[in-house]
Amino acid sequence: MRTNPVITIDGPAGAGKSTAARLLAERLGYTLVPTGAMYRAVALSVMRAGVPQREGPELRAHLEPLSIVVAAGRVRLDGEDVTDAIRSREVARVTSDITMLASVRAKVTPLQRELAAAGGVVLEGRDTGTVVCPDAEVKFYLTASLEARARRRQAELAAAGTPVALDAITAELSARDTQDQTRELAPLRKPPGAIELDTSDLTADQVVERMLAAIGTDRGAEPRQATAPRPNRLYAFLRVLAVALMRLLFRVEARGRENVPARGPVLLVANHSSFLDPPLVGGAANRQLTFLAKAELFQIPLFGALIRRLNARPVRREGADPGALRTAMRVLEEGGALLIFPEGTRGDEGAVRPAKAGAGMLAVLSGVTVVPVYVSGSGRAWPRGRRLPRPAKVTVTFGTPLRFEAERGADRKRQYEIASREMMKAIERIRDGTTADSAGKRWSESYAVRSK
Ligand code: C5P
Repeated sequence: MRTNPVITIDGPAGAGKSTAARLLAERLGYTLVPTGAMYRAVALSVMRAGVPQREGPELRAHLEPLSIVVAAGRVRLDGEDVTDAIRSREVARVTSDITMLASVRAKVTPLQRELAAAGGVVLEGRDTGTVVCPDAEVKFYLTASLEARARRRQAELAAAGTPVALDAITAELSARDTQDQTRELAPLRKPPGAIELDTSDLTADQVVERMLAAIGTDRGAEPRQATAPRPNRLYAFLRVLAVALMRLLFRVEARGRENVPARGPVLLVANHSSFLDPPLVGGAANRQLTFLAKAELFQIPLFGALIRRLNARPVRREGADPGALRTAMRVLEEGGALLIFPEGTRGDEGAVRPAKAGAGMLAVLSGVTVVPVYVSGSGRAWPRGRRLPRPAKVTVTFGTPLRFEAERGADRKRQYEIASREMMKAIERIRDGTTADSAGKRWSESYAVRSK
């Protein structure tokens, strides 16, 4: 069940969809899903790999492991930021060709549906209101004359430093129109019930004003606060109680809280030596977190239901859990703050153990800001094997944010391992006091780690 509506915007190339969708998503605080960009990313990877651009085992094998992520206005292909690389005319041409292939659509459509599942999204493309989300609450169909669209594309290309003659652009657009409209799979057409807007003589702002007017408040498209998930009241209430209790029992101190961005996606990675770690980090952080917790905990009557209400999501411990990775990615794509314990199970107080590969994979594929967190004292306050906690001083320190960006062509598994290793090293540096983190100073330094 989604609590916020899905808005779809379809139409031919150059009708002003992407600008209108971006502005509309900003105005409503919704997540933007530019579906064409996801297809462009697939096209780019197919071009680079030299895979035949036709249906067959080679193409299917190439598509299967591809990771395409759109978050915070950027598009990532296997962790590499390709937002700019996919804007070339060559990529546009190949995209139009490969989007006719069933295996390409079968790869991308479910990703788009997943992004839309929770609602509060603006999807923009060719088939978002017909195929991806036929049940969307609000659908738009943007059109414009071929001439108006060609002029817009020309201005865009010129601004990007590629002046192209109007005739050439008109011919390309018209060819893409025909291809998009006549293909067998998910052809471009006006979705039933869609609101049609001819944007030939409208500015982007005028288009958005009309869309907002058409949506109206009675359709339920209430603006959401920025891109942050809606605050959870039970969480907010219990957090106050938990913080008061933990202050009393453990004299909890939080340091470096300003290192956690107040909005937008962020991955918090912490060492783990106690049951207390999730509430400790959750209490110390300046925003609501989502947690990954072992699946067994959700089986415990009442407790399972409670932690689910408190933003915990299950992860299976044995072997890889692709479902958990998808869940985690979705939290980040929706602009959430996700806390994970890369070491997996709890260990001894003061020990920082190697991270599981999944943590590095999540950091690289999502490309989001990673904040290392060191919890000291929780392993004394409530170590493994003890039935009840005991008083002990606990400090939660949020360290300097890191970012892991995939390098094109580099070995993927190795990149994930490097990211996993680097995040644990960052946690160790906080523990050892070899960064400003443990001194509780204000941050001036900020560094990026690139996996090579
Ligand atoms: O919108 P954009 O120009 O980025 O889209 C690139 C291409 O991707 C389009 O020409 C169209 O062929 C294809 N596409 C699609 N289905 C979508 C979005 C885009 O087939 N939902």
